[in-house]
Amino acid sequence: MTLTGKLLIGARDVPGSEGTMKALNPATNQLIEPDFALGGVADVDRAATLADEAFDVYSHTSLAKRAAFLDSIADNLDKVRQALAARAALETGVPEAQLEGEAIKAATQFRQFADVVRRGRFLQLAIDPAQPDRQPRPRMDHRLQKIALGPVAIFGASNFPIAYSVAGGDTASALAAGATVILKAHNAHPGASEIQARAIRDAVQAHGLPEGVFSMVRGGGNAIGEALVDHPLIKAVTFTGSERGGMALYRRAQLRPDPILVFTEMTSINPTFILPHAQAEKGALIGDGFVERMLVNVGQACLKPALLIAIDGPGFEAMRAAMIKRVNETLARPMLTPGIHAAYLNGLGQIEDAGARRIAEGSPASAALHGASALLEVDGAQFLSETLLAEEVFGPAALLVKVRNEAEMLAVARSLRGQLSAAMHLEVEDLPLAQRLLPVLERRTGRIVVNAFAHPQEVTFATVHGGPFPATSDSRFTSVGMTSIERFLRPVAYQGFPQALLPEVLRDANPLALPRLIDGV
Ligand code: NAP
Repeated sequence: MTLTGKLLIGARDVPGSEGTMKALNPATNQLIEPDFALGGVADVDRAATLADEAFDVYSHTSLAKRAAFLDSIADNLDKVRQALAARAALETGVPEAQLEGEAIKAATQFRQFADVVRRGRFLQLAIDPAQPDRQPRPRMDHRLQKIALGPVAIFGASNFPIAYSVAGGDTASALAAGATVILKAHNAHPGASEIQARAIRDAVQAHGLPEGVFSMVRGGGNAIGEALVDHPLIKAVTFTGSERGGMALYRRAQLRPDPILVFTEMTSINPTFILPHAQAEKGALIGDGFVERMLVNVGQACLKPALLIAIDGPGFEAMRAAMIKRVNETLARPMLTPGIHAAYLNGLGQIEDAGARRIAEGSPASAALHGASALLEVDGAQFLSETLLAEEVFGPAALLVKVRNEAEMLAVARSLRGQLSAAMHLEVEDLPLAQRLLPVLERRTGRIVVNAFAHPQEVTFATVHGGPFPATSDSRFTSVGMTSIERFLRPVAYQGFPQALLPEVLRDANPLALPRLIDGV
């Protein structure tokens, strides 16, 4: 597939006003062809203007038409799957087979959201019919549907270059909601971004939709992201990345004359609690499984289990030995970007300075951007006295916290900030302790897993990929799963409307047989 390296603004391929960049192959530390255009404020303005012009038409497409459009994007992604995975592998160092899996997941998400659109439940239709005879005063007819917020800006993630990037879950859920999208591509994988953007744009054109339904921009620094957040026509933002970047954009959006919603997914150490009977029964197995999950994607995953809390007692040494063995056997692998690699080394240094001891390390890095795995250890008292030890180190490292007893395990749980997930490994005999831990974890996480590790693969109606700050900036919403569409919706009530003026989905006839609450039932 030929890459042009241009920005895709509406129907046009745009050279960009701020120079060019090249992709970097992190496995070899070499730059790769071709040049990719960098945009600026004027490019954002053009994309936002088109997105705004397209919004009224796109947000009023019939559910059937919108669903067919989303299905077409999925079909287009299937057609380019191999080329996409091959280019993404070059730009990320992630194995091609894994990236083909991501491309399948991305296409599947679009098909899942097409189903969500067809079923219409996301509109949350409600009708409270008029009660002209109600005493002491009559009630007017009230009807409610949810509509899209407007044009939205989406920051593609660096760490899943397909499933959470240009054609990722954020884009699928925003388009499903009826929002128009400006995608800020991550510079870690510009070629893979272009392939995905073309798959979406081709579907826009094939379905005769206005060109501004989708644009992709890219920039050489913070200016382009800031311009997106500042633009008066943008009505919401989604972001996956660092806490620093996410909060800078979040705060910026609150300083606008008209503050907007910024949904950030930022940082999580996904604590894993090993309860005593489970540890005695199968400590080594759990320790080995923990390290296996910790190493997925070279530890560059939002659900990476990075903290293991276990009580010093039966099974502890076997578990610790299994973890050390597994880490020691690991080969260093390329990390995604020079920035992420540098942040990894820096983060490891910081938690060592804070008192963590390195008890295992994988084979040393043989190339510049390779990350060697590491296992560190502290005791519970030390962990509780040093907040730095609870900071995410994005990469193939984890911290083992050896606590003295159940009380200290609970204290560690209570000390944690907001998380995307937490896990408990337990046997039936551990249920009393699990019942004490559960409310502590519920307050701090969006997902609690028993006898397994949080896994990003499932995208379902019950998926929650969110959690209290700093995991996200808004714990009421998920960024993965079918209910992620709710981030882009707001309710509108229609009071006293004649049938002919009502949106079709709220008319009495209900020809699509959509689910609707009538008088609350
Ligand atoms: P990042 O540095 O936060 O950048 C994410 C995106 O936001 C990029 O497109 C970046 O543009 C933009 N951006 C960041 N700060 C900005 C600002 N102040 N103003 C305008 N735009 C801004 O994240 P990253 O590059 O993906 O990785 C860096 C670190 O983020 C990692 O080391 C890791 O700690 C964390 N991370 C966490 C997760 C997670 O799921 N928990 C996922 C990915 C990354 P530029 O590239 O042009 O700066």
